[in-house]
Formats: sequence, C-alpha cells, structure tokens
Amino acid sequence: MPAPLLIVGQGVAGTLLAWECERAGIEFEIADAGHAGAASRVGAGIINPITGQRIVKSWRVDELIGPAEATYRKLEDALGVAVLRRMRVRRHFRSAEERLVFAAKTRRGELAPFVRSEDAGGTTTGAEAGEGFWVEPAFHVDLPALIAAARRRWRTQGRLTERTVVLAEERARRDVVVLCTGAAAGSLGGVTFDRVKGEALRVVPERPCAEPDVIHNDGHWLLPLADGDAMVGASYDRTATTLEPSAPTRALLETSATRLLGGGGFKVREALAGWRVSVRDLRPATGRVAGDPQVGFINGLGSKGALYAPWLARQWINHLTERVPFDPGVDAARLR
Ligand SMILES: Cc1cc2nc3c(=O)[nH]c(=O)nc-3n(C[C@H](O)[C@H](O)[C@H](O)COP(=O)(O)OP(=O)(O)OC[C@H]3O[C@@H](n4cnc5c(N)ncnc54)[C@H](O)[C@@H]3O)c2cc1C
Repeated sequence: MPAPLLIVGQGVAGTLLAWECERAGIEFEIADAGHAGAASRVGAGIINPITGQRIVKSWRVDELIGPAEATYRKLEDALGVAVLRRMRVRRHFRSAEERLVFAAKTRRGELAPFVRSEDAGGTTTGAEAGEGFWVEPAFHVDLPALIAAARRRWRTQGRLTERTVVLAEERARRDVVVLCTGAAAGSLGGVTFDRVKGEALRVVPERPCAEPDVIHNDGHWLLPLADGDAMVGASYDRTATTLEPSAPTRALLETSATRLLGGGGFKVREALAGWRVSVRDLRPATGRVAGDPQVGFINGLGSKGALYAPWLARQWINHLTERVPFDPGVDAARLR
C-alpha cells in the first residue's frame, strides 16, 4: 500500500517535514529527483540572527532560533552524525554609514539579545570596538551531511526513492502530496516563486582558520568548516538563467576569500551555484494549493532555509493531525 502522504523533494524543507512526520508517527514516503539542482546541496546553512546591509534582525528569529537548535540536535542523535555547530559572526563595518546605523539600532535595543553590549558602546575600547560587532549565537547547519544521513535512513526503511515525481501519477494513490521542490516549483495555485542565483566557493586554506567558530562577514562571508575547508560566499544574481558558475563572480569571491582569510593563500576545491527561492514579501510560503487541497507545499525559504524549515515542518504536523491553521505570516493565502 502506498503511504497516504508523499513528500516531493528532499532538500532541507522535505527532510525536516519527513523527520517531523516520523516523530509524529505519520506514515509518509519521500522522493527526490537526485538533488542535482538542490539549493540545500550548495547553501551554507548559516543561521545568522542579524543580517543585511541595513543590519536587521531576521524575521521571527527570537522565537525560532531556540527550537531550530533543539530540532537539529535531536536529528544529530537520531542520525548519528554531526550536523550543528554553534558559531559567532564577526560583522565588519563597510562604511561610516553602517557604523551609524548600527549605533542607532543598538541604542533602540533592536539587535538584542544577539549583539554584545560592549559593541553597542559599552566597555570595549580600541580598534575592535570601532570596526565591527559580534553576533551570537549563530549556527552552521551542515545541510549536505544532514540530507545524506537522512537519505540513508529512509532508504533503508523503504520510505525514500530517487525519482522525478509526476504529480498527476500520484493523485489516485495519495491523500496528500506536499511539494518541497525548491526552484522547480515555478508557481503554485496563484503563488509565484522568484529565483535568484547564488554562488559560493569551497576553498582549502593554506593555513587553518585562526578561529574555527567565527564566521567573518564584510559583505561576503567566510565560514570555516569542521573538516578544515572554508566556504566563501555568496553572490546575488537576479538576471541569471542558468546555474553555470560564472568566471567574474568566481574572481570576486576569490578576492573576498583572500581578504577574509587575512591574506592567506587557498585553493578552490569547488565552485557552487544554486537558486534561492522567494515570494514577493520575502517570507516563507506554505499551505495547501488554492483550489487543489490534495496538494500542499513548503517553499520560498530564500537565504534562510536552515532557520525556517523546522518551524514550517512542525506547522504541517499540527495541520495534518489537528487541522491547525498555518501561521498567517507564512500561510500562502496572504499572497493570493
Ligand atoms: C549560494 C547559496 C548560499 C546560501 N546560504 C544559506 C545560508 O547560509 N543559510 C541558509 O539558511 N540558507 C542559505 N541558502 C538558502 C538555502 O540553501 C535554501 O533556503 C534551502 O536550501 C531551500 O531548500 P528547499 O528544500 O526549499 O529546496 P532545495 O534544497 O532546492 O530542494 C528541492 C528538492 O526538490 C527536488 N525536486 C524538485 N522537483 C522534483 C520532482 N518533480 N520530483 C522529485 N524531486 C524533485 C530537487 O531534486 C531538490 O533536491 C543559500 C542558498 C544559496 C544558493
């Protein structure tokens, strides 16, 4: 008998949904077409509570960061792999204006509790105080490791298959199909998904990163990985039509890698590219497809899939078991 629930796509969204189903005892199957274009294969998996040129707190981060940490820890226990590392972000000012924005926001308490009070004009003196600020806690979720370990688990259990799902072929066999298909979604029930190409480099530093738990960010970020490599990224290209890594972007990222490694040399191990998917208000989108309630979706995770996927997956469990409505902030009904 096919399971009543089919999850299509095993990026971070599909993985977290399947995991919550397993925990809740909901029968499911999950299928993925092979991850070739998956954003979760290339995404850095950073959870950084304070981001962007305007130095803003990520939407709902205060309430979501703790539960996300707890979820990834439980996944580590169940899968027997290291997935989550607690990190700090050193944000370097790029201009005098950024410094002023930061000072005003910290005065108003907008960045608490993620910014150290010394950086906000307290006790730190000297060069460090004026050049940037610390964000803590931040996390690195090793998305490729998480997805590979979960794939092994569900393949062994007979719940995961590698294939391209054709929705029309599943309808008669399933109660619900939840599409976690990332950039392949295009549009669903009147909700249009936009995509922005992002590129990153995985590099092998000549000297190990001095502070392996610190992500440096000065417009580009440098993320030390647990195995001694580092990632540097990421670009935003709204006009790109293919995922081919581009030579000019690679050159920019190499310049940033040199700077963020303090002038140290490196070799490029891999150039990575993926689509970030978003909807018009740049918040995640989930729910049932308008006019087609057999089909649901989780998408629009933008640059923050690692933070939002656990929350969206839990909402689906509450929806499936107790018909709890989705949070209005992410319910795709707001977009129609
Ligand atoms: C360069 C870059 C850097 C990023 N950095 C970060 C970061 O630091 N932190 C962060 O949180 N996020 C980051 N992101 C964003 C993050 O990677 C995404 O939010 C997240 O991976 C999206 O996950 P998803 O599951 O929605 O989609 P995907 O990971 O794209 O997964 C979709 C899956 O669906 C499958 N699929 C599609 N159609 C079908 C079908 N018909 N049948 C079967 N399978 C199908 C695909 O094979 C794919 O595996 C970054 C993204 C990029 C590109």
